[in-house]
Order: sequence, then C-alpha cells, then structure tokens
Amino acid sequence: MLSRFAAVIGDPVAHSLSPVLHNAAFTALDIHARYEAVLVRPDEVPACIERMRTERWLGMSVTMPHKEAVVALLDDLTPIAGALGAVNCVFWEPDPLSQVVPGAAGSARLVGDNTDGAGVVWALRDHVGVELAGARVVVIGAGGAARACVAALGGAGVADVAVLNRTLAKAEGAAALATAVGRVGTIADLETADIVINATPVGMVGDESGLPAPPVGSGTVAMDLIYHPVETEWLRRSAASGAVVCNGVPMLLGQAAAAFERWTGRPAPVAAMAEALGDAL
Ligand code: NAP
Repeated sequence: MLSRFAAVIGDPVAHSLSPVLHNAAFTALDIHARYEAVLVRPDEVPACIERMRTERWLGMSVTMPHKEAVVALLDDLTPIAGALGAVNCVFWEPDPLSQVVPGAAGSARLVGDNTDGAGVVWALRDHVGVELAGARVVVIGAGGAARACVAALGGAGVADVAVLNRTLAKAEGAAALATAVGRVGTIADLETADIVINATPVGMVGDESGLPAPPVGSGTVAMDLIYHPVETEWLRRSAASGAVVCNGVPMLLGQAAAAFERWTGRPAPVAAMAEALGDAL
C-alpha cells in the first residue's frame, strides 16, 4: 500500500514533539503514513507548499517562524485561521484520506487551520473538566498562543475574556478576537476569574523573569501553556494555594488531535498519542 507523507515545517524544528504524537496516531489506527520534522528556511516556504501539492502530502503542521507566511500560499483558510492570520495545520479539502495519488490534484484545495485554540478548549473542557459556558477567563500575554486562546474561548461560550499584556496595543488586538466578550483587563481581574491562563514564556526553562502574575488560589483553574518544565513556579504556587492546575501538555495533545482529524477525517486516538507524549517528555 502507498505510504503517505506528513511533516511539521519550522526553523528550528528538530525539538518538535509533533512526530512523536502523529506517528503514534498513525500506528494506532493502522494508517500507512509517516510524519517527519522538516527544517524549512523562510525563503523555502513557497517551494515547500508546492511540494506538498505535487507530492500529495497527507498533512502539514507549521511552526515558528512560518505560521503567518503560509497564509498567502494556501487556497483557503478556516474562519479561525483567517481571524488569527496564522496557520499551524494545512489539510486537504474535501476527502482527506482518499487523496492518495501523487500529482492528482483534482478539485481538492489546500486549507489552513489554526488548532491551538481548539487545543486549549479541549484541555480545559475534556482534560480538566471545567465548564466554559459563562466562565470568566483571564489570559496573560497577547502573542500567537494567547490570540488563539482568546479567539477560541470567545467562540466557546465564556462570559468574559480579560487580556493582560505588558504591551497595551497588543492586548487590545488580542481582546478584539473574542468579539463581544473580550476586553483589556487589569491585575484586579485575577481576583474574580474562574480560569487564568499564562500564555507568556515567563517561567519556561531558561527564563529568569519570575512569575507571569501572582499565584491564584482555591476556586480557580490555573493553566500554563508552558510544558518545559512540566510544572512552572506559577503553577506550583497556585496549586499550593488550592487552585486546580493544568500545564501545557494537554493543549499540545489537543491541538495535535484536532490537526490529525483534519488530515484523516477520523477521530484521533488520543490515549495512544498521550502515552507516546508521556514517554517522550
Ligand atoms: P509570542 O508570540 O512570542 O508571545 C509572547 C507573549 O508573552 C507576548 O504577549 C509578550 O508580551 C509576552 N511576554 C514575553 N516575555 C515577557 C515577559 N518577560 N514579561 C511579560 N510578558 C512577556 O509567544 P507564543 O508563541 O504566543 O508563546 C507563548 C507561550 O506559549 C510560550 O511559552 C510557548 O511555549 C507556549 N505555547 C505552548 C503551546 C502548547 O501546545 N502547549 C503552543 C504554543 C505556545 P509583548 O506583547 O509585550 O511582547
């Protein structure tokens, strides 16, 4: 049987955990495909998308610094990728797994999606088990990950999304992605939040900036998008104060599961993916 190719492109990309996740998923569902990390320099991105078309790659993940550059090279975008202006997953539409003949473009179109927000919603709703409808959320940061959180949470029925960021103009831009429920917040919003999400790199291995915000306590879900280390100082102190905590691993899993479903049209084998990720981490 013909084996399909899939890849994550980025620069650098060798550190990516995506091959671990997606190869585990292909194996679990007996899909004849292999997934690799491919180093692509910025000036090579257009040729790489062309290669995906002619070789009929099953799917592509896109990581830094190419998430914005691929937008103009695709046939269409999902609404969330269009709103964010950033793509982390490229898939064929329609009929993902039947597009098996290299060079046979047919009527299939190459579409860009952004599954980071779906990963956050999955992590909160399915992994932590928190009710998002009516929730009051604080997002700290206004970069790519924060914007994806804000847009997805705005579409998930939360009552309020307050964005805190050191650069005000970027906070305003991110808050607008949650339309009616988004706004620029203040530190006082931490007192009344049901969910607080750290979407800055503050607390990552190698970052010495301290805490992204004061720790939160009982009655609050503290989510840190960082997964290296698996427990940041902010999460550790929030847990000690009684908060329910969640690190960045479930988001990583959730965004990969959503991408896998785009590529294959099949439910992602999340347990097999989680086991492989646990081993790799
Ligand atoms: P980004 O686009 O560079 O944005 C970083 C944001 O953090 C910006 O809003 C920046 O503020 C703020 N920030 C940076 N350093 C800061 C500091 N010392 N003090 C206060 N604010 C600071 O980064 P990103 O791609 O959104 O990633 C953010 C974090 O999410 C990273 O830790 C990344 O590893 C994590 N992440 C996790 C996943 C996952 O699957 N778990 C996925 C994506 C990202 P300014 O706007 O003022 O510059």
